[in-house]
Amino acid sequence: MEIKTLDNLKIGQDAIIDTIDTNDIALKCHLLDMGLTPNTEVTLIKKAPLGDPMEFRLRGYELTLRKESASKIKIKDVHASDTKPRKNYEFHEIEHSQIGENNINKNKLIIKEKVTFALIGNQNSGKTTLFNKLTGSNQHVGNFPGVTIQKTQGIIKQDKNASLVDLPGIYSLSPYSSEEIITRDFLLNEKPDGIINIVDATNIERNLFLTMQLLELDIPIVIALNMMDEVKENNGSIDINGLEDTFRVPVIPISAFKNEGLDELIEHALNVARYDERPKKLDFCKSDNSCAPIHRCIHSIMELIENHAQAINIPSRFAAVKLVEDDKLILEKLRLDENEIKTINHLISEMTNETGLDRYASVCDMRYSFIDELCSKYVSKSSENSFYKLSNTLDKILTGKYSAIPSFLIIISLILYITFGPFGTFLSDKTELIINWFTNIVDSALTSYGLNSVVHSLIIDGIFSGVGAVLSFLPVIVVLFFFLSILEDTGYMARVAFVMD
Ligand code: GDP
Ligand code: MG
Repeated sequence: MEIKTLDNLKIGQDAIIDTIDTNDIALKCHLLDMGLTPNTEVTLIKKAPLGDPMEFRLRGYELTLRKESASKIKIKDVHASDTKPRKNYEFHEIEHSQIGENNINKNKLIIKEKVTFALIGNQNSGKTTLFNKLTGSNQHVGNFPGVTIQKTQGIIKQDKNASLVDLPGIYSLSPYSSEEIITRDFLLNEKPDGIINIVDATNIERNLFLTMQLLELDIPIVIALNMMDEVKENNGSIDINGLEDTFRVPVIPISAFKNEGLDELIEHALNVARYDERPKKLDFCKSDNSCAPIHRCIHSIMELIENHAQAINIPSRFAAVKLVEDDKLILEKLRLDENEIKTINHLISEMTNETGLDRYASVCDMRYSFIDELCSKYVSKSSENSFYKLSNTLDKILTGKYSAIPSFLIIISLILYITFGPFGTFLSDKTELIINWFTNIVDSALTSYGLNSVVHSLIIDGIFSGVGAVLSFLPVIVVLFFFLSILEDTGYMARVAFVMD
């Protein structure tokens, strides 16, 4: 029988992931970080017109992959799609717990007056939007991944003693991408007083994967559950108290875009940072205890490396997990001796024997299987309302195999036609008429006033003709930008990016 890989899947088919078959460890870890761990079910939703990239659904979220990467993933048990929407959790509007209920002890001494927060989250989770709202600055908000490259710092409006650093969007704290290294080095070396972890609530499964890693850094943290407006609009719901009870850190539902929940977010963030409330719970396990071997392994390694980790001021929990994941940078920093390394490798191979997964996959699998269980308990996805259906139909046309490129050409031609065709010419002509009319008035006024002819010429031929010539293009530019912003805001630009890649 031929070996099947993920890129052979047909639209609408499901398959179970068998292994990721590549020697490229960076790629392998990246795919695992995205949740493509062995035994996960994936569905192919659509392909770009030329078959690359492809969009899959797994773990309740959608993931776009290049064909090249998909061909590295071996699959088994291919079958027609049977994924039903996740069973709707009985939802009750639950009031978010108030400050003070989360073990925040008001009687304790404030430890820090001046605090710095790191804003951490996935790409496109709304970091820059939140940063701008909280600091009142005006960073560029992009709809494309990777817009934020360097870190930007700002003072929080509500409290002059608190500042915020916007860091690159990341999915994990692995050592294989420069953004992730920048971010984790910032967190480990500069030790911000608190982390504001922004989580895209519409993509909560993938976002919580990063959250679970951030909890291990031993830094006070609050979870800002962003895009709650969209979740509500889609009739979805999330049990905030359930998440808070699980993670034992504040979880605050917000909408950065609509300015909702931001005061509460800042209040909680300031509290955890000033009172230095660090996350206490770090072992998260599925209720069937299937991740016991990996927990045993992590704890044994933690004990072994405790002193080394302390010496370089890195949380031993974080270091231990990174060692299991074969993180060479951390291994080097820890300066372990040969015997210690031998013992650690032994512990890891014992663990992989027990779990049947390799060292890279076992940590990801532990995290994702915990998140799966958590979300099935506390998160209910949108029921399909009419808007959702309409958006789905449009999506099919705009990114369909045969219709995507024609619709792109039609839409762009239409925009260019409206902008530069009769309508645009009409607007430019009218503007020119108005400018000429105004120039004539000023011209005759200046003549009757008897102004010096040199100054007269400067004003009429220089300023009015010069500025006027530029101004007559203005309507065209305004119209063009108007249409481009519509394309961006409706999400069509993101679809074009998928189609054209
Ligand atoms: P970043 O990549 O994490 O910096 O994310 P951005 O701030 O650039 O935001 C990505 C996209 O999400 C932008 O189109 C924002 O307008 C949108 N966005 C951000 N916050 C919200 C929100 O609370 N609700 C909704 N519906 N959209 C949001
Ligand atoms: Mg950004």
